[in-house]
Amino acid sequence: MIKEQVLLEDQEWRKHASCLHFSAVLFFGFDDTEPPAEKRLREDQAKLVCFECPVRQECLDYALSARESHGIWGGMTDVERRRYANRSR
Ligand code: SF4
Repeated sequence: MIKEQVLLEDQEWRKHASCLHFSAVLFFGFDDTEPPAEKRLREDQAKLVCFECPVRQECLDYALSARESHGIWGGMTDVERRRYANRSR
């Protein structure tokens, strides 16, 4: 619990995020009407940015702690993060 609180409060890693140089739409999409094939393509492109990001692990740790339910964080979709969190329990 204390570790989660620290992760949520320490946001310094965001200053080094590679996604700062890209539109948020790449990571979150426009809305729920996005066709599945386009969504997969967009998410794959966002993940490529994440895989080169120097704070990928910090981002993923934050997203898991905050239970972020939308978008690409730490190179994972919301579905992938839920699976990862369930496996880690
Ligand atoms: S891992 Fe991806 S979503 Fe997280 S900060 Fe880096 S580029 Fe942004």
